[in-house]
Amino acid sequence: MRVGERVTLLDGQGWAYEGVLIAVDEGNVRCQTLRRWEAAGEPRTHITLYQAVLKGERFSWALQKGVEVGVSAFAPLICERNVVDDLAAIESKRERWECIIREAAEQCGRGRLPELDQTQLFSQAASPSLPPPCPSPGRRGAGGEVRLIAWEGEYSTTLRDALARCNWAAGARIQLFVGPEGGFTEDEIALARRCGVQPVTLGPRILRAETAGVIAAALILYEAGEL
Ligand code: SAH
Repeated sequence: MRVGERVTLLDGQGWAYEGVLIAVDEGNVRCQTLRRWEAAGEPRTHITLYQAVLKGERFSWALQKGVEVGVSAFAPLICERNVVDDLAAIESKRERWECIIREAAEQCGRGRLPELDQTQLFSQAASPSLPPPCPSPGRRGAGGEVRLIAWEGEYSTTLRDALARCNWAAGARIQLFVGPEGGFTEDEIALARRCGVQPVTLGPRILRAETAGVIAAALILYEAGEL
């Protein structure tokens, strides 16, 4: 780009700025901001996607599509049936994942940069408050969030049933767990239930893990009238 051209800047804190370039040198650009507005790309519904780390490019794909759909935070998970479960190998990808999130946020015009939380074991993420015992199943989490786990073994509770309890107007906070290539174990689901994480079905077909995370997030935002 050249001096005089106009750009839109996102500060990652929820604001967008219209600017005009006043200097474009090697590696250094100066811009005069003209006006700012609240970036339109931010959903009121705050979804944290606890996505099991996946082999190859699949996890990166889940991050990129999750940013586009409107996920607000990602928490990489290590579950019992992960194919990738070496923490050092996972942490070596963090910088690249942060870059993917930032580029996706710029591309789709997000006002806030979605967070990439620390990698967690499923048991830690599902039961942050253990001990003492977790809230009773189906209730809200400590912070009032609605906690959902997409489970291929669930046949009765739909996502819509579980979301019926949301207070959408206030901008619900949702925690959404999605399992690895091998799915969730019965023990993981039992722990989830004990900690008030509600299993939900995403339909009769088995979705690939990265598909499940993006579809579930999109359905939640659609139900909230934000997509
Ligand atoms: N072997 C495939 C699918 C594994 S299932 C793969 O390699 O991706 C991965 C996760 O997707 C499950 O643990 C669950 O969280 C979610 N999922 C897939 N299909 C689902 C369905 N029909 N209902 C609910 N969750 C589903």
